[in-house]
Amino acid sequence: QHAALLKSERLATIGRMTSLITHELRNPLSSINLNVEMLAEALEERGIDASDEDIRPLLETVIEEIDRLRDITEEYLTYARLPSPKTQPENLDDIVQGLIDFHQWEWSQHGVEVIVTIDNAPLEVDVDANQIRQALLNLIKNAVEASSPGDAIVVSVTRVEGVARVAIEDQGEGIRPEALERLFEPFFSTKSQGTGLGLPMTQQILEEHGGQLSVESDLGEGTRFCFELPLSSPH
Ligand code: ADP
Ligand code: MG
Repeated sequence: QHAALLKSERLATIGRMTSLITHELRNPLSSINLNVEMLAEALEERGIDASDEDIRPLLETVIEEIDRLRDITEEYLTYARLPSPKTQPENLDDIVQGLIDFHQWEWSQHGVEVIVTIDNAPLEVDVDANQIRQALLNLIKNAVEASSPGDAIVVSVTRVEGVARVAIEDQGEGIRPEALERLFEPFFSTKSQGTGLGLPMTQQILEEHGGQLSVESDLGEGTRFCFELPLSSPH
């Protein structure tokens, strides 16, 4: 219990820090973005074509990097500001299916197909739908990032003894044993552009919903993340 308390205090401190830093980054980022756009216009007005072969790639790189920084700061902010869940009865199968339908095209651009299997629908759970979507998205995004073109990811939803079980299985690179131990530490990432906040955020969301996140992985074979949520008790 003591360890759990320390952990939550540490997370709260990290939350305050990230929130401060990312907040400070937001305004300069918008300003850089605006100024780059104005620069392109100013060049054009002086008869210098901003779509010129020499200039365009430079501008594009700046804009891409701004977008990337924005994504990262948003991820930090989502984590830092995670409110306590506002739960209501929801169908877990609809949440999962809806999220995957929404993102399928984007993931297909990575050459990855996400397959959904749902058993025994409807599965009613008391959850904060937005937070559960965020948790699922973090897990599926990781699976996509670990996969190669042609790989499939299977997301399955089943009913097991009073709980809904969700599993996300990929055929990606797998996780090394030494990484497996540190997976849920805030800021632990093996990616050059990772934040290392996806899994701690996911774990926190699921714990607040009375669920637990577990992981199994075989290096070179793939990874399976699994969590269970209590089903709403019948009225
Ligand atoms: P990030 O994605 O920003 O690196 P996460 O907290 O989401 O941070 O994940 C932490 C680390 O866990 C990743 O950097 C990666 O090494 C590992 N990981 C998570 N999910 C998978 C997966 N499905 N397959 C392989 N490695 C994974
Ligand atoms: Mg991630």
